[in-house]
Amino acid sequence: MLWHPKALVSGAVDWIWPPRSLLSSALVDRPGVIEGPLWARLRFLDAPRCFCCGLPFETPEAEGARCPTCLAEAPDFSRARAALLYDDLSRTLVLDLKRAGRRDGLKAFAAWMARAGAEVLRETDVLVPTPLHWSKLAQRRFNQAAWLAQALAAQAQKPCDLFALERRRRRKSQEGLSAALRRRNVAGAFVVGTGASARIKGRAVTVIDDVFTTGATVQACARALLRAGAARVDVITLARVVRPNSLSPIA
Ligand SMILES: [Zn+2]
Repeated sequence: MLWHPKALVSGAVDWIWPPRSLLSSALVDRPGVIEGPLWARLRFLDAPRCFCCGLPFETPEAEGARCPTCLAEAPDFSRARAALLYDDLSRTLVLDLKRAGRRDGLKAFAAWMARAGAEVLRETDVLVPTPLHWSKLAQRRFNQAAWLAQALAAQAQKPCDLFALERRRRRKSQEGLSAALRRRNVAGAFVVGTGASARIKGRAVTVIDDVFTTGATVQACARALLRAGAARVDVITLARVVRPNSLSPIA
């Protein structure tokens, strides 16, 4: 089942939240705005970066340069792009979205993600959110990755397939796990849903998630999509974790 971007995601829900800044209690003139001083502290990610996983480089590198991790073992996704560095400020945005279900930032988030992933979106056929296990969805009642995918689909005028991927096992939270444990925790956790293969086969798919931490989740999603016949898989997230010792160019 494809969701089409004409079905706008904002509007009806904007009134739920008073027009306050996304990052403070300051009153703003419309929903989804951040006052100047805090806006200036947001760290948007841009080139130079690893062509594959999007890791920022400190110095310019040749077009298509990859970080040591991607050179050692290329992930199944082709390119991962993120709008924001995951830090104290962007963590507030993510947690308000993920835990409080705050939706008034979605249009802004989609605009930032569209900018960060412009090259990816130009070649994308369909956006697919990382799924929650059905029991977790029933508990939380929303999937923030699906909200981001819908908002970005509206922004980019691309279709969004909310049900292409299924999470077939509920695993423990990825929070606090090492990269290796995260990979093990989500390996094989995702599958292209029954009847969805025909919608995925031969298509350029972009996986949408809130945060790229180690890439384990989107890697597992990419593997499932490629197994189902996707022509390629890219990734766009709202934020990306960059560990201090990983902010370095290729040696
Ligand atoms: Zn990389």
